Amino acid sequence: MSKVLPIIIIFLNILLISKARVLAQIPPKSIKLGSFTPPPTRTPTATPTRTPTLIPSGPPAPSEVPEPSGGNGGGNPAECAKLGLSMFSPQPRFLEQTTLCELGVIWPPYSPSFVPSNLTNLYNATGGKFWQRVNSIMIKSGIVSDLTGLLKYIDNQPGCALFIGYGYRSYAEQEGLWKGNNCATDPGCGVAPPGKSAHQAGIALDLFCAEMRGSDIILKGVSQSSIDNARNFNFIHPVNWDTPHFIGL
Ligand SMILES: [Zn+2]
Repeated sequence: MSKVLPIIIIFLNILLISKARVLAQIPPKSIKLGSFTPPPTRTPTATPTRTPTLIPSGPPAPSEVPEPSGGNGGGNPAECAKLGLSMFSPQPRFLEQTTLCELGVIWPPYSPSFVPSNLTNLYNATGGKFWQRVNSIMIKSGIVSDLTGLLKYIDNQPGCALFIGYGYRSYAEQEGLWKGNNCATDPGCGVAPPGKSAHQAGIALDLFCAEMRGSDIILKGVSQSSIDNARNFNFIHPVNWDTPHFIGL
């Protein structure tokens, strides 16, 4: 028995350690913020028929002129004027095929088949340093170095463990979120319709401060100084009420 006992203890330790690893990888049971329900990967089943009041219905067809690779040619103020908005200046360097207007709005919308060029895995690009909702978040590779500075800054804020909710979203993911939040009947749902989100350009991120309570992740908004300093990292925070939402210039 005296020889067997240490072996049993070692065996139990190995079991506990591997259990702890497994637990750490289990997705959070609940995330206390509306934007994460339902899961964003859900495949939509029908085409939405209504759009929020801010965005006119009957959108113009996306431009058929090929854009210079990696950019949007400086944007087109006439596109924003269609919405009664001004064009944001400067235009994001890595925005493709559309124009960034004030309030973080993009116009014209992306077609369902649009996928930005040069997307990269954010977790790998940042060396896995930051807490992400999932490790498969993609982002435009061009903004990674500026973004890393912003992420470090927010993560270093007192009482904040940075949590990255979203980066790039496909058309289907955007549509799934939009439907899941009943946005067709609730224009104030806080989610842009499919085709109309800067997340689809791969240059927008939703950033939070997170806290574990048991198996729940409690998400809080980032600090005001994170918002105020975003521009120093070449990011904008375009919408006051949308605290997590940043766009890379
Ligand atoms: Zn966002």
